[in-house]
Amino acid sequence: MAEPEWMNEVRALVGKEYGRVYGWDPVNLPMARQWAEIMGIDNPHYASGEVVPPAMLQVWCMEGPQTNHYPPGSTTENPYEVLKLIEAQGHPAVVAVNSELEFDRYLRPGERIYYTTRLDAVGPEKTTALGTGYFVTLVMTYWSQREGGDEKVGQLLFRVFKFRPTQAAQPAAVVSEAEARPAPKRPAPGISDDTRFFWDGARAGALLIQRCKGCSALRHPPGPSCPRCHSFDWDTVRASGYGKVYSFVVMHYPEVPPFEHPNPIGLIELDEGTRLVAQLVGVRPADVRIGQRVLVEFNRFEVGAPGGSDDIVLPQFRPLPETAAAAAASEVR
Ligand code: ZN
Repeated sequence: MAEPEWMNEVRALVGKEYGRVYGWDPVNLPMARQWAEIMGIDNPHYASGEVVPPAMLQVWCMEGPQTNHYPPGSTTENPYEVLKLIEAQGHPAVVAVNSELEFDRYLRPGERIYYTTRLDAVGPEKTTALGTGYFVTLVMTYWSQREGGDEKVGQLLFRVFKFRPTQAAQPAAVVSEAEARPAPKRPAPGISDDTRFFWDGARAGALLIQRCKGCSALRHPPGPSCPRCHSFDWDTVRASGYGKVYSFVVMHYPEVPPFEHPNPIGLIELDEGTRLVAQLVGVRPADVRIGQRVLVEFNRFEVGAPGGSDDIVLPQFRPLPETAAAAAASEVR
């Protein structure tokens, strides 16, 4: 299918390099320490202050709370101009789909970092469950300023889908036809040999936590080796199912069927100490509270493509009534 004429302007931008965006501050230990604290990273490797966590790469050149407030000398060009062009043609929605960081080496305190941006690719028109639009890929290259030539230290690939939402674009007659189709099913989770026990457990009505046989540490999400003692031997323990809301988000947009919206998702801290992400049920999103006592329940869902017959049992968490919550808390102590 031939592309619309307005895409010529978009295609002409592919490959364009955008100028430097500088960091406000050099790589420094106070920011690294605060970042590690917020992210829950307690790695003695970083405590010496010789190097900073690689995953902070993007942090050093962020604008801060004020939009488009970059240090003097930074480019005034907008590396996202291509998104404006696509938006002007009736594709208002955007969702980030990939963010891939690559690190060439560790950064050390005192280094001055900047990045440049290249519009790497704009894909052909694609129709997804969300709508019809274009995948746009930008690559940010990070540099350390040095006498005698700046050094590349890492890269960020950032891909977004700029699209026209399915429902908003359809005339009423087409929407009713869409409504007549079988309801979409939940996407199936990726299940590997490392994680199968968890899903099998849920199917049997048990919330299982992986336990290291070397040092007895519990861990979640499941993985092949113990992050504490590196043992590959493990078994599982059955959780009580009680926990509390450690944190949560309420998903408002994009609205992806078959999920209900707004959709409250909890980071649940089990009484055994591990945390897992799960949907909250039986509670209005506005009533979710951090610290709320919750109890697991297991619910079956059909998954996969329409017409498929696969199903999955998901652990979900329901807030306990206040009095029951108090009783459950004392029972655990
Ligand atoms: Zn261990």
